[in-house]
Amino acid sequence: MSRSSVITSLVITLVFFRLLVPTTSTDETLEALPATSEAVKRKWTYSYRKPDSKSKPAWSHKDPEAWIRKFPTCGGKQQSPINIQPNLTVITSYPNFKFHNYGFVEGMELINNGHSAAYNLPINYPKKKTPHISGGGLDGIYQFAQIHMHWGNDSSKGSEHLIKSKSYPAEMHLVHWNVKYGSFAEASKYSYDGLAVLTIFAKVVPEDNKSYQPLVEQLGEIIKNGDETILRKPVSLFELLPKRTSTFYRYFGSVTTPACQEIVIWTIFDKPIEISEKQLNKFRSLKDEVGDRMVDNFRPPQPVNDRTVFYRSHKVPDIPLSVTDPYSPFSDAYKWSKSTFKNYANRFWGMFDPPAHLRHAFCRTRPC
Ligand SMILES: [Zn+2]
Repeated sequence: MSRSSVITSLVITLVFFRLLVPTTSTDETLEALPATSEAVKRKWTYSYRKPDSKSKPAWSHKDPEAWIRKFPTCGGKQQSPINIQPNLTVITSYPNFKFHNYGFVEGMELINNGHSAAYNLPINYPKKKTPHISGGGLDGIYQFAQIHMHWGNDSSKGSEHLIKSKSYPAEMHLVHWNVKYGSFAEASKYSYDGLAVLTIFAKVVPEDNKSYQPLVEQLGEIIKNGDETILRKPVSLFELLPKRTSTFYRYFGSVTTPACQEIVIWTIFDKPIEISEKQLNKFRSLKDEVGDRMVDNFRPPQPVNDRTVFYRSHKVPDIPLSVTDPYSPFSDAYKWSKSTFKNYANRFWGMFDPPAHLRHAFCRTRPC
């Protein structure tokens, strides 16, 4: 390879990796995300605003169109949530998810952050017991940080993601961060693989959901913005999951509250859990950041633009976690991942154009 072509290749590679680096500032990144003990010693929070603040809230679910003025990233091209059209998804082979330490979590912290009820993993939770996930097409290990919910004023709406333009009455988000970055704060600075959020839809049935009862029964203790308490009963994360976790949608998007950072690998399980109207009403009885009823705390769907939404079907055979060859028949599972690009770049250093079948998917899901 000539010297000039080496230099050209190097410049192209550097420009590409620059595109992968987030452009949001650290302050902006931390504003809307769960803080870690490194960032804020207090506790994990999500969109938390000090309740004693006299100033107008920085944002509200009542006027999501206004977010873009203060938080330009909210007008980005890879925003969440989205309206998923199953007939437009690409059926993909991913390994099954592995849920580690997903049994009972003791001493979860429950907080009214003005926008939702958030259940945080206690700080200093024993490392050995910390829940985390792997597989599912994720590259590496993602550690559990927090659960929060979105719900409607009534059960005709409430979820953030839509399936074929239809809402569910509620949507739960299990927020995880990529352990390779060492902390939540660090992980939230990196684009595209910093966070992995598992999304669980809830539908309404007459009977209470016993597994969700520990999350529901202390909501009366956090009615006001800033209220917080400790859950008396341990929560089994495993029992919060839908009965089937082998089928899900996958796409790359953003945090759904300001500052809308585009750092989330979304997993949307298509099988909902069941919850009663009575249990949902407990969430609806909370007060928001200005003292109004905390309802309709969901963001409307955002344009899909040129992103690909993948679907893991149980009809596609499971594949081992060790498959890393982007040219294998299972390359779909990896084509969106950073490791794929690295593998690709290593093989074809100096030749930027990927083969058409990879370029097509890659450029639709990542900056190219
Ligand atoms: Zn959420």
